[in-house]
Amino acid sequence: MLGNVTACQCLMVRLAQLDTEGKLLDHHESLAKAFTTARMRETVAWGREVFGANGIVVDYNAARFFADAEALYSYEGTYQMQNLIVGKAVTGLSAFV
Ligand SMILES: Cc1cc2nc3c(=O)[nH]c(=O)nc-3n(C[C@H](O)[C@H](O)[C@H](O)COP(=O)(O)OP(=O)(O)OC[C@H]3O[C@@H](n4cnc5c(N)ncnc54)[C@H](O)[C@@H]3O)c2cc1C
Repeated sequence: MLGNVTACQCLMVRLAQLDTEGKLLDHHESLAKAFTTARMRETVAWGREVFGANGIVVDYNAARFFADAEALYSYEGTYQMQNLIVGKAVTGLSAFV
């Protein structure tokens, strides 16, 4: 969990640096969105697991973060769409259908 959070923070710092330097491009943002939301999804699932079965009970709030993570993974460009943008930038080939 800490590794995921730290990796995501490092990526976001790099994104901010690129933005400050005027070098931030769409596929940089797509890579960050896809990577960080996927890591968030893993992390909140582990967080939920720490509570055992109570993790799915509203009283302990872990499931609320779980639902938030699922939403962030899908809106403002789904994980798959962000990866298609990155793939096009890396290979020069578009796999959009
Ligand atoms: C909480 C929440 C708030 C939202 N707020 C807003 C808002 O304020 N404004 C707004 O405009 N929208 C909003 N949305 C909508 C959100 O942007 C869409 O849900 C999102 O873009 C995904 O579209 P969809 O749900 O129609 O899924 P679909 O486009 O039907 O996608 C379904 C699945 O298929 C995949 N997929 C689709 N097309 C392809 C393809 N060509 N190749 C490979 N995979 C593909 C997707 O990645 C996804 O996994 C919100 C959604 C949620 C859940």
